[in-house]
This record gives sequence, C-alpha cells and structure tokens, in this order.
Amino acid sequence: MIDLDFDRRYIWHPYTSMKNPLPVFPVAGASGVRLQLEDGRELVDGMSSWWAAIHGYSHPVLNSAVGKQLERMSHVMFGGLTHEPAVRLARQLVEMTPDSLDRVFFSDSGSVAVEIAIKMAVQYWEALSRPGKKRMLALRCGYHGDTFGAMSVSDPMTGMHSLFRGAIQEQFFAPAPRCRYGEPCTEEDIAPLAGLLEKHHDELAAVIVEPVVQGAGGMRFYSADWLVRLRELCTAYGVLLIFDEIATGFGRTGKLFAMEHAGVVPDILTVGKALTGGYMSLAATLASGEVADAISSGEPGVFMHGPTFMANPLATAVASASLGLLHSSSWQNSVQRIEAGLLRGLEPCHSIEGVVDVRVLGAIGVVELDRPVNMAAIQKEFVKRGVWVRPFGRLVYLMPPFIIDEGDLDLLTAALGEVVALEGVKG
Ligand code: PLP
Repeated sequence: MIDLDFDRRYIWHPYTSMKNPLPVFPVAGASGVRLQLEDGRELVDGMSSWWAAIHGYSHPVLNSAVGKQLERMSHVMFGGLTHEPAVRLARQLVEMTPDSLDRVFFSDSGSVAVEIAIKMAVQYWEALSRPGKKRMLALRCGYHGDTFGAMSVSDPMTGMHSLFRGAIQEQFFAPAPRCRYGEPCTEEDIAPLAGLLEKHHDELAAVIVEPVVQGAGGMRFYSADWLVRLRELCTAYGVLLIFDEIATGFGRTGKLFAMEHAGVVPDILTVGKALTGGYMSLAATLASGEVADAISSGEPGVFMHGPTFMANPLATAVASASLGLLHSSSWQNSVQRIEAGLLRGLEPCHSIEGVVDVRVLGAIGVVELDRPVNMAAIQKEFVKRGVWVRPFGRLVYLMPPFIIDEGDLDLLTAALGEVVALEGVKG
C-alpha cells in the first residue's frame, strides 16, 4: 500500500502547501484511457496527464519502444556523443514542422525548452551586435512554465510575479487577444500589441505566445487572424517570434500544430508534453537556420546550453515511436470525433447556474464558471463518478487521450455536467 501519511507529510505536489495539503489519490496502474486506483476503482482519464498521454497509457507500441531501447542503453551523455533515437527523432520533427524550422535542441521539460528559446533569442541579437535587445513581449493569460525565464513571460497575476519581484526579469505584456477563435482580428484587437512593438522594438529580442490556445493561463481560444498580424508586426519591427506549442502540439487542436490554423511560421518553436506520448519528460526547441547560424557566428560561437539528460535515449526512442504512431493513426478523425462529442456532451452546461462560458476546440472542452471551484470537493465528486478531471481556478476542462471511445467520452461530459451543477463544489 502507498504510504499516504508519508506522502502527505513529506512530499510536495504541484502548487500545494506542506501545512495544509490537498488529498491525493493513490494510482496503482494505468492502461488505455483508464487510471487504476490502489483500491481497485477505475477512473476514465479526462486530462491525458496534462496534455501528454495522447495515445492513452501502456500502449504496446510505446512499451515495446522503451523496452528495446532499454536493452541497448538507457542513457549516455550527449556532449561529444550521439545516438540513433536522437537523430531519428530530430529528423521526424524537422519533417513535420515548417521547412524553415530545421535546427533542433533537445531538453528535459517544457519549461526548459522555453528557457532555451529565450536564450536563443538573446544570443541571436548579441551575435548581430544588437545587445540592447534582451527583453521579451508576452501575453496576459499566457503560461510558459515555472522556471524563472518561463515564469517571467507567463501571466504576471496568475504567476504571482509580485512574489518574485527583484528576482524575476521584468518583461512587456500585451493584453490577451479578445477576438475569439473563428472571428476576424480587428484593428482594435491588435492595437495594444502593435503599440508595444512600435515603442519597445529596440529592446525586444522576441515575442512569445501560445498560438491559438492559451492553456494553463486561462484555456482561451483566440483568432488565428491575430497570429497573422503578429507575424507581420514582428517581421516589420525586427523582433523574433517564438511559438510555444508545448501544450498544443501533436494534434490537440485539430491541426498537427496550432500555428497551422493561421498558416504562419515562427522563428523558434517549443514542443514537449505529448512529444513522448506522455511516457517521459522530453522537450525540444526548434530554430530556423538563420537564428542558429547567427548564434553560431557570434561570440562565443556556441549556443550556451547543455543539460545532463539532453536527448536521453529512452525518451527520444519513445518520442520517435509516439510520432510514428500518430502518423500511422487517423488522429484527425479521432480529434474531430472528440470535438463533436465534447460539443454535444457539454452543450447542456450552458444552462447550469454559475457557468459563464462553454467552449470546444479540437480535443479540448472547457466549462468556465463565475467563481473558482473548491478543489478538494470537486475532485472527490469526479472520482465518485469514475472520472479523472482536474480543474483549476474557474475552469473545468477535458482533454482526453485521442483513443477515447464514445461511451467513455459521454461518461466524462455527463460527469462534468453533473458535478458543476452541484452546490458545494463552487468556492
Ligand atoms: N508551455 C506551455 C504552453 C505549457 O502548457 C507548459 C506546461 O503546462 C509549459 C510550457 C511547461 O512545461 P513543463 O511543465 O513540462 O515544464
């Protein structure tokens, strides 16, 4: 039995207190779309373990890829050495992303991939003898991770920048786009961003955004047109553009990458989460040849980063297998089917007291409430109904594995509707 008392006393979980920890549920196993709790109960997973487990759990193809790689080598350093799974995965990433993004830097997590993207932008301008260009412009309601650089470009309110004042780089923030997904972008929508670029472009190394879907900063879906304007402005003002597709990449929004909704290409791209099908922590930062060549031509002639577990063979092998699985599956049909199921299943939530918005894009369904949920109470209600849903703030949302069938999807949406209608779950 898992020692829950030890867990409670000595282990930090994400965003929790050590004095007053929230309850956690002990998991003994996971397969397909189900998590098995230690007491034998099964939960249908509505979260894909935070966007990652797109193929579900314990997939035979991915299990076999890890097993085979384990027999060869689990890890070797990447400094001075290379290996087949890293080269294979880099080739796949270059082939599936826009032509200009063809230089790949592997790292261990999404936050680190964002740090790397920021460092690339800074080193790029240093190399071009523009050392004044060191700041970033980001969006309110954005989320890019929890390390200092990533946190500096995440929403200042939800990221509690005030707590870290003095320790965290101060960046520029534009309001989150107001034009919703599917709507055109008006002059009014783009004006604040355009104004900041006009005023500060000499200080700006890059603009960083999550294209189309702002994830953990608010689960907002915004106009693809806005991104077209953003790209034009970055080019006009000589500021690099970074797209963070750590949450949206690999099919989640209905396109392989969310940037495809807009047909625009950034100078630097970050991917992670579903890259390994949720098996292991791995991320990558892709850059254009122009960015990579400039960095490599400037001082000190190298890119200043090199993590211990860079391109870990087990992680790159399973990521390569996961991308292979994605390509050989009809993921577009699965995501379309999930989108239709979410639209249908969440529709009744519109009429529930306290619900202010219901939105669906690809395999993401969001129910926004007028007040934050009571996390402990709502989690218990979901588990009682045999589903795993983890809301944050005022947002209760689903992003199930792509392999989920109609029955399990209906179970998730019905449970969500029932639970948000309960009185005690709203804070
Ligand atoms: N960027 C985005 C868009 C994310 O959604 C996240 C995680 O939720 C990150 C970066 C950070 O990734 P990680 O948690 O792997 O560090």
